[in-house]
Amino acid sequence: MNQHAGALVLFSGGQDSATCLAWALDRFERVETIGFDYGQRHRIELECRTQVLQSLRERFPAWDAKLGEDRVLDLAVLGEISSSALTSQRAIEFDVNGLPNTFVPGRNLLFLTLAGALAYRRGLSVLVGGMCETDYSGYPDCRDDTLKAQQVTLSLGLDTRVVIETPLMWLDKAATWAMTERLGGDALVELIRLDTHSCYLGDRSRLHAWGYGCGGCPACSLRKAGWERYRPSNARPSHPIQRFALADAMPEPWKNGDGVTRTLATDRCVDTTIAAADSDWDWRISVADIETGGPFSPFEQVDRTLILLHGGPLILNRSGAPITLTDAGERISFEGEEAVDAQIAATTVQALNLMTRRGQVGSTVRVIHGAPLADPAQDNRASRPPDHHWASLTTLTTAATVAFVAFVVAGSYRIEWSAGYSAQKQFLILRAGEGIVLREASGIGLVSALEIDVDTPSLRSDSAVGSQPWLILITLESSHDSSATIAH
Ligand code: ZN
Repeated sequence: MNQHAGALVLFSGGQDSATCLAWALDRFERVETIGFDYGQRHRIELECRTQVLQSLRERFPAWDAKLGEDRVLDLAVLGEISSSALTSQRAIEFDVNGLPNTFVPGRNLLFLTLAGALAYRRGLSVLVGGMCETDYSGYPDCRDDTLKAQQVTLSLGLDTRVVIETPLMWLDKAATWAMTERLGGDALVELIRLDTHSCYLGDRSRLHAWGYGCGGCPACSLRKAGWERYRPSNARPSHPIQRFALADAMPEPWKNGDGVTRTLATDRCVDTTIAAADSDWDWRISVADIETGGPFSPFEQVDRTLILLHGGPLILNRSGAPITLTDAGERISFEGEEAVDAQIAATTVQALNLMTRRGQVGSTVRVIHGAPLADPAQDNRASRPPDHHWASLTTLTTAATVAFVAFVVAGSYRIEWSAGYSAQKQFLILRAGEGIVLREASGIGLVSALEIDVDTPSLRSDSAVGSQPWLILITLESSHDSSATIAH
């Protein structure tokens, strides 16, 4: 295949054609798209295709640069000559020939002919379509032989070499999701899950694990079954957020036996009931109970930050010069190889312990007491009720971010965020000892805004108990070039 050739993708706004569009953007220097308005009942897919194109541009800058013109051709004539359940209000059922009555005769033949004519004019030699002979409804114009014959027909009829690529032809729906993940990581999986449309009835009012749809029509059934084989409901979460509680984390003895530590999150394992082996992570966040003084165990090639949570003072002797952490929230950073000797008062000292593998992951730590620091440029409190004290915190994540962790030490916080690719905002109320981890495989645009409200009336009584509310925000960034994570 000529990697520098241009491709025209038949793009309907559905899962398959959106995956094919990503496939083409991964391979070709120039990609254009074509869609058809043929009076389909699920016309909502025409709106979805606009959203998918916009999300792809926002989320994948390298693809944005390759993505060219989009056209939607009016094919109302197709509705005039067919009485399919896709173009009229008929119940979906099977006809005597074994084909579902969602079959629109000649639809793909017509689409490909028109796409071939457009490609010819645009100087594009490759047509890409999501036709598939594996998990399909038996449409004869989705068959590989049909498409091969049409490739020959178009090449002869246009007197130029036309290639029809069908990357999904021999993939089932689970393998299609896996291909999506290979092409663009969890970010692309989420984009296709939320922005594409499959349901024949045009239902976008119900969100399932596998996306929007009625859940019962043949298109929804195929999509649902494929998703469940790709990502069983008890396996990885479909959302990049994980919530954790200190109380659920399993205590492990320190390497030197002078206390216990509870792992809250690592890059390897976020199930806090499972201990993370020392050698097995690139970053780890834990809460350490320091029960007696003494030297810390050395950690080779690890950078460390300790933040005092409770029970100060904690005195750390580094090369003879003591550093004292007295108040909650005070912190110290040091290299894991450094000789550090701890002294404590009679009570157990509790500290948040951040470790990152040097050369792999770097970190930024923010400790926020009471109301968060406001970024005036981003503060949208004007739109909030007057008794709320909101502040937007931006620049919490960058293109190199691999994870963002928030841990509420005291009080309650309402944490709201919107991921970069989705306008939908989500929020959680976290109380003392709770936190969240946000992350995605691609590490791009993880959190575009995070807002914290310490003064929601329903939270006041909670916050009034004990000390002033405060929380710790940690951004973890890859030390490698992150741009490589977009195009594999
Ligand atoms: Zn449906």
